This record gives sequence, structure tokens and C-alpha cells, in this order.
Amino acid sequence: MLSISAIEEIFKKLSVLNPEPTTELEYKNPYTLLVAVVLSAQSTDKGVNKATRTLFEKVSTPQQMVEFGEEKLKQAIQTIGFYNTKAKNIIRLSEILIQEHQGQVPQNRAALEQLPGVGRKTANVILNTVFGKPVIAVDTHILRVTNRLGICTAKTPLEAEKALMEKIPSKYLQHAHHWLILHGRYICQARKPKCYLCPVVDICEYKEKNLVKSKT
Ligand code: SF4
Repeated sequence: MLSISAIEEIFKKLSVLNPEPTTELEYKNPYTLLVAVVLSAQSTDKGVNKATRTLFEKVSTPQQMVEFGEEKLKQAIQTIGFYNTKAKNIIRLSEILIQEHQGQVPQNRAALEQLPGVGRKTANVILNTVFGKPVIAVDTHILRVTNRLGICTAKTPLEAEKALMEKIPSKYLQHAHHWLILHGRYICQARKPKCYLCPVVDICEYKEKNLVKSKT
């Protein structure tokens, strides 16, 4: 396992390369980010953006979404996986925001997790990206990257989240989530990590590093 000073070094390097990392999901306000994150479960940010670009021109508040209705929403997001369930959740979630939160996205985990389609990971994305809380939303990228690096040996996202909250120096916690996701998406990819491009290759403990760029 990496020492705390090695972990600090990783985040120092990532922070120099990208001082202000953020989500690649497109959104207009906290509500549209919440919708985009719900849509992104088991789907790519690119695929979600393609559908929401037009949708968010017409619909950007819970009230507008409820008026838009489930059938139209299904049509608008039909290119996204599980769109039937996601449409149902988004309409219900919008109704709850209107009835219980004055149409606003709540700023606390318990209220967020009570919304349909919103689990711990989505709640953490909102708390981090909208409200600036130093929390980490662990997805498959973060689980893989942090295990390979030697930051933790977690088997589940929750285990990883707890370990990362303990081990990542507090000054890097605010952006750690996006640094790790972007690193996993573009460099430390699942099938073949691009270790030959990796800015933290000298610190990483992964034994099967891919140090040669293939020609194909
Ligand atoms: S060296 Fe390779 S395995 Fe390690 S973090 Fe970088 S890309 Fe991932």
C-alpha cells in the first residue's frame, strides 16, 4: 500500500496538470445536473449529453419537467440505457422536489438519497459538484484506479469511499473525485491502461503496467 506522502504526491501531480477538474456532463443548474447524473447510471456522459442538449433547452426546472411529462421524456432520452425506468424516476423525483423542497435540489445526503433513482454515488456527485462538499462519489473508474495505484484494496464502492476519505489529504478532497474519474476514463482505462502516458507511473504499484503504446 502507498504511504500517505506517496498519495499526496499523486494528487499534487494531478492538481498541477488540471487545477480545476469538473464533470463532463453538460448542465444548466443544480436540477439539470441531478437529472443528468441520474441518466448517466450505466451510460456514458457523452451519450447523456447528446440527449440532454436538446432536452435542457426546453426543460430546466422540476415544474417544467412535470409539465413535459413521462411520455415525452421517454422519447427525448430513448437513446440512453434503461430510459423507461429513468424517465419514471425523473418525473417522480421532480414532483418530490416541488412538493417537499420548494423546487430546489436539497443540500443534504439524506434528502437526496430519498429521491427515486438517487443512491449514494449520485448524492455525492451533487454534494461535491453543486455544493462544494469534500466527498468522493466512487464509480467503477475510481474503484479500479485506486486499487491499481495502491491507495486502497477495497472491493466495493463504499469500502473505497471510506478508505479514500481517510487517506487523501484534506486539501485535495474537493477535487479528488474528478481527478480520479478523468484519470480512469482517459489514461488508466479498464482493459488496457495507458501507463506510458500516466503522470503518476513512477508512484503506481500496479504490477501489470502497460508501458508500450501499441501500433493498432
Ligand atoms: S501507471 Fe498505469 S495502472 Fe498505474 S495509475 Fe497509471 S495508468 Fe493506471
